[in-house]
Amino acid sequence: MRVPDDKIWVEVSQIARAPMDVEGEANGRLFALEHDPYVHQNGPVSYKIHVELAGQDLVVTGSAEAPLALLCGRCGRFFSTNVKISSFLRAYNWNDHPEVLDLTGDIREDLLLEVPPYPVCSPDCRGRCPQCGKNLNDGPCGCPPRPDWDEGSPWGELDNLGLGVPPEQSGDGPATKQ
Ligand SMILES: [Zn+2]
Ligand SMILES: [Zn+2]
Repeated sequence: MRVPDDKIWVEVSQIARAPMDVEGEANGRLFALEHDPYVHQNGPVSYKIHVELAGQDLVVTGSAEAPLALLCGRCGRFFSTNVKISSFLRAYNWNDHPEVLDLTGDIREDLLLEVPPYPVCSPDCRGRCPQCGKNLNDGPCGCPPRPDWDEGSPWGELDNLGLGVPPEQSGDGPATKQ
């Protein structure tokens, strides 16, 4: 049997004689992420599969792992990570798959469920400057600090309560004629 390199196929026609253990690698193209803006495949999917016949059911257990590149939600850069599943479990009717069991879609699905909903390249990621857009992981940008974003300022709390100086009496009001 010639297996396409981006498929995870198990040849099950002889399964009645003994359980099967299959391990291998499949091309990361199986993720079909070419046009995904947030997740890219970054190498082959490695898998270890155990298949047993229980009545007419093919019971499949196993694990799989794949390197992916994810877009950091803070700094907008791709970073490499591995997604893993350690307890893949599915049952298939042998009558529906008498020769070959194609596990590609189900393993793909379980691996993609491991992608975090809000990936961050590192817990220390500094993100981007909201003013100039520079990636602050590369160093500070030189923008002046914005006092209204300074959570440490006691005046920020007062402003929020509306107890501050009315605008017309502050320096920000309309200029008076000299
Ligand atoms: Zn980041
Ligand atoms: Zn900046």
